[in-house]
Amino acid sequence: MIPMVNLKAQYAEIKDEIERGLAETIDNCSFILGPHVQAFEKEAADYLGVKHAIGCASGTDALHLALLAEGIGAGDEVITSAFTFIATAEAIKYVGAKPVFVDIDPQSFNITPENIEKAITAKTKAVMPVHLFGQPVNLPAIKAICDKHGLKLIEDCAQSFGASVNGKQTGGFGDAAGFSFFPSKNLGCFGDGGLVTTNCDKAAAKIKQYRNHGSDVRYYHDVIGYNSRLDEMQAVVLRAKLKHIDQYNAARRHAAHLYSELMADLPLTTPHEDGLGVHVYHQYTLLSERRDEIMKALQDQQIACAVYYPVPLHQQNVFKDECAGLSLPVTESVAANCFSLPICSSISDDTIKQIVAVIRSVFN
Ligand SMILES: *Cc1c(COP(=O)(O)O)cnc(C)c1O
Repeated sequence: MIPMVNLKAQYAEIKDEIERGLAETIDNCSFILGPHVQAFEKEAADYLGVKHAIGCASGTDALHLALLAEGIGAGDEVITSAFTFIATAEAIKYVGAKPVFVDIDPQSFNITPENIEKAITAKTKAVMPVHLFGQPVNLPAIKAICDKHGLKLIEDCAQSFGASVNGKQTGGFGDAAGFSFFPSKNLGCFGDGGLVTTNCDKAAAKIKQYRNHGSDVRYYHDVIGYNSRLDEMQAVVLRAKLKHIDQYNAARRHAAHLYSELMADLPLTTPHEDGLGVHVYHQYTLLSERRDEIMKALQDQQIACAVYYPVPLHQQNVFKDECAGLSLPVTESVAANCFSLPICSSISDDTIKQIVAVIRSVFN
């Protein structure tokens, strides 16, 4: 059986360090906002090249806290992608704003500066682009549009930890950004976890309040906040993995390039690197009109594969009424033909060759 993500090999390399940190945390009983969370926040901020990195309970919460801190609320419109995980739009709804879905580029699957600019209205307050599958959106162009129209830029970096544009990490280009540490993400913990980044001191102070019951000083509350802290135990895991993140992402890029090279002659569309930034391949996603046939062949050989995402957000039951009449032809066509293959930092060349051989057999 070949899974989508194999975390066991990665764990074996850092097991001792993690076990030591966990044992220490248990001995000290410092479970909430302890020394490892503080240290991880500092290390993550340094790695990402941002002034502030604030741990929280999940990637979904990270986006929610970022929107709150930027003052996005009822009646506001936030431009985003419909070709993403539901959490992107959920966060926008949590603050009472309206997600405005725009179409994607057929090659990068990311929303484009042109489509964003066309969707701006008097109610638009923010743009929340998703660096989908680990490939950065056109950040310089999107930032320029946001500056020109006075909009906040909030990056959804859930799939892009370690991806960069012109040598600068995603998560530092806009007003704020949200990262996810869900176990299968490029930097994953042993449960749920998230991170908000910002270069603004005021926003950072608000995020810290909101994640901890609206409080700076224990039992004194300034706003209605949330219980959304990053667990100390998860910070231990993240500190150990952060040291290796460049190596993990390099291994993902190697795997992706090998897949693409081995399938170059096949009649399917392998992932396109648009050169606007460094793609860290959270997913390796292809397009084929024979998707179902290929996936069945893989499944018959005990090889996992998956469709991210089969139903774009504007066509989900929850958004059907709100988005009635909205047509996003590129998004819809990509959703109908896309499928993703196993990829992670520990996948071997042999495993990739084995997977490609099965795909090749479909076309013979
Ligand atoms: C995973 C993900 C999220 C949500 O992160 P969680 O940690 O699962 O809450 C948000 N946006 C995108 C694009 C994601 O892939």
